[in-house]
Amino acid sequence: MKVIVVGTGYVGLVTGTCLADLGNFVTCVDSDPAKLDILKTCKSPFYEPGLDERLKRNFDAGRLVFTASLKDSFRDTTLFFNAVGTPPYESGEADLTYVFSVVNEFFEMYNELQCTDFKVLITKSTVPVGTGSKIEAIRNTYGISEDQVAIVSNPEFLREGTAIYDFFHPDRIVVGSSSEQALDLIQELYDPLYRTQTPVIRTSLQTSELSKYASNAFLATKISFINEMANLCELTGADVSDIAKIMGMDGRIGKYFLHAGPGYGGSCFPKDTKALVYLAKQLGYDLNVVSAVEKVNETQKKRVMTYILDYFDNDISGKTFALLGLSFKPNTDDVREASSLTISEALLKQGARIKAFDPEVKSLPQFEDNQNFSIVSDSYTAAESSDALILVTEWNTFRELDLARIRSSMNHPVFFDLRNVYSPQKLSDAGFEAYVIGRKLLGNTLVSSEKVYRD
Ligand code: NAD
Repeated sequence: MKVIVVGTGYVGLVTGTCLADLGNFVTCVDSDPAKLDILKTCKSPFYEPGLDERLKRNFDAGRLVFTASLKDSFRDTTLFFNAVGTPPYESGEADLTYVFSVVNEFFEMYNELQCTDFKVLITKSTVPVGTGSKIEAIRNTYGISEDQVAIVSNPEFLREGTAIYDFFHPDRIVVGSSSEQALDLIQELYDPLYRTQTPVIRTSLQTSELSKYASNAFLATKISFINEMANLCELTGADVSDIAKIMGMDGRIGKYFLHAGPGYGGSCFPKDTKALVYLAKQLGYDLNVVSAVEKVNETQKKRVMTYILDYFDNDISGKTFALLGLSFKPNTDDVREASSLTISEALLKQGARIKAFDPEVKSLPQFEDNQNFSIVSDSYTAAESSDALILVTEWNTFRELDLARIRSSMNHPVFFDLRNVYSPQKLSDAGFEAYVIGRKLLGNTLVSSEKVYRD
């Protein structure tokens, strides 16, 4: 089939490349010339395992092209995916400027090229419930009927870091529309996945749109829940890694998303929970659980600062911190809303210096001009002569560190493990004073809610 994907971000580029891999002819459109320049060299502008090889394979086979113009293959194409970003406004509301810009461009092009054939405009971006109906209303203002252009919601559930696997092995495919003809076409597009047992849920626009927010809000809830349990473990002497294991063995709960850490980040959970709370409020409903989830997360991101300041008697000015991991999770270079940013800002504000290392993040524009912040080439250089080490993101490369080497190169061997990568015993055996989230406090520090760091 011929497909156009607008937006070559994490979702659009992975979707376009994988659809091409299934034998479709895909045109990827992006308005950012810098991204297109990189794409035309057969490279992904961001790090996603396995993407570069697939991109090249399909580009070479002529099944994948990149362009700035929607016009290029518009006439011959039936299926259009809108996969542009939906960042949050300050209020939490989803900013749909990019989505509607593509929508208007699409309808203008349909009329300009005097198309009469059936086309399907599919929203893959995460958009608030009601957006699809608004797109239908916009279509009507262009004098285009439902028989000419059908509007579909097809939310994306892939995870950065395992996006290719997730595309080919989704837990479910959700498609929402009032047009059976459009749903049939999309089901045909996804048929190779359906044949390998992926359930396809056909539903209304509204249900499809809300299902994405509901899923993300629930996953964020699991994370904030286990983080609160970790905090309670620290106050009681219980061990959160065992608690998570015990809870996860219960089939009704499930073992995923029960890893305590420094709060969730990324391009989805923070903005999607905020957008959901905002939307509910507009409708006169207080979404209490999700609001609490967000509040817990904000505090969790700063929690390590309480321990650090307590340990250094409230004076970290001039001290050097080795930061391991900058991306919001392993196997991606995405730093949007990453906990590492919150921690770095707080450390720098207190006059500390940071030497950071991440396997994929090699620059952070927001700290570029700050002389107290540097990104170094490996974990050992980061640790050298530092006064404390903070393990922020659980990249595999941090799981097998030479702890003896790290310890002997540091000014002061104190280790803050925010991801439960090492057992307290292992760190202690290696000669560290250690804080391990939900398992071991430093000295006698007990952090009650009142004591949590606020800037
Ligand atoms: P992104 O910010 O990485 O990429 C968006 C792309 O759209 C950019 O390359 C930008 O240049 C392009 N763009 C913007 N306006 C355009 C226009 N008018 N014409 C052509 N291109 C345009 O975004 P992303 O992370 O891929 O997310 C896209 C959507 O998918 C969001 O709604 C997000 O919530 C959702 N989503 C993201 C993930 C994820 O893991 N990143 C997972 C599921 C769903």
